[in-house]
Amino acid sequence: MSKIRNIFRGKQKPVTLKPGTDKRQAAGKREVPDGLWDKCPQCKTMIFRKDLQRAHYVCSKCGYHLSVGARERLRQLVDNIERFEEYDAQLTVDNPIGFPEYEAKKERDEKKTHENEAVITGKATINQHAVVLAIMEFGFISGSMGSAVGEKITRAFERAIAEGLPVVTVSSSGGARMQEGIISLMQMQKTAAAVERHSRAGLLYISVLVHPTTAGVYGSFASQGDIVISEPGATVGFAGKAVIEAAVGRRIPPDLQQAETVFKNGFIDVIVHRSELRTTIGKLLQLHNTPVLPEAEINVPTEDEGNAEEPVVAEPTPAEAVQTDADPTPVTKPKKRSTRTSRSYLRRKQD
Ligand SMILES: [Zn+2]
Repeated sequence: MSKIRNIFRGKQKPVTLKPGTDKRQAAGKREVPDGLWDKCPQCKTMIFRKDLQRAHYVCSKCGYHLSVGARERLRQLVDNIERFEEYDAQLTVDNPIGFPEYEAKKERDEKKTHENEAVITGKATINQHAVVLAIMEFGFISGSMGSAVGEKITRAFERAIAEGLPVVTVSSSGGARMQEGIISLMQMQKTAAAVERHSRAGLLYISVLVHPTTAGVYGSFASQGDIVISEPGATVGFAGKAVIEAAVGRRIPPDLQQAETVFKNGFIDVIVHRSELRTTIGKLLQLHNTPVLPEAEINVPTEDEGNAEEPVVAEPTPAEAVQTDADPTPVTKPKKRSTRTSRSYLRRKQD
């Protein structure tokens, strides 16, 4: 128990940036190699890098949605990335169960993605509506959910409850982080309970699934949205193809876990092209009367604050949070806003 209790208290490893490197700028560029042109992985067309960026990294020839990093995704979604108020930027975890080579893997992906964990969380505005965001970084250990990711997501929902704000998550993940063993599986329950508390507070939660959203992340907070949106062609599902086939003893259709099939089966509300994602989310926030916040009211950390090596002590610890989750329902239970209006808007959009 003491080991679990102390997982966030170990030696802190702050994000190391090369002198003069802007973390956000650097991260926005990392998905593509040096050069002016990029090749579409699907139709192999060469596309001018600047055009690709302008098109939100969607191929203009075949519509293939290329993968984008968390910072670039953030830039695409919010009104002004400069006014993004990031939460828990320094929160990370060492190696709670002493898994071999875990530190080395994290170090490698930290260099690659310029992130110190597989999710970024914070507050910003979309179409002037204030929202709490959690955006996953697939490039960091396959966007897997370990204890720091679970803690950051839980805290994001808790802050949204405290401020009466909606939450938008963008998931792309391979599932629970095996390098943290059972502790990573606990994050499923912990994040799911945080979503439930947010829901009981009568607040809106929009979950966006991008390629790929699978396993423990799909099996917890990512599939719990009041409204679940997906990008076209994304792989969405819990167990992998091979695991399902072994379990049911026969081949499964190749498109079983494609967003379009999942949509037909009712687990996704709408499939939205990336270029329309921000407008669609903005419209949904408007339909649900979520708070409008003038940009000036978002607290932007100064350069010094943002880079400060503040001590990071997670409260509550995952173990304690599990107990807290069992707390009785608050006496006053606000009525959840109906998603009927937004569903009829999404149906029109899908047709
Ligand atoms: Zn293409």
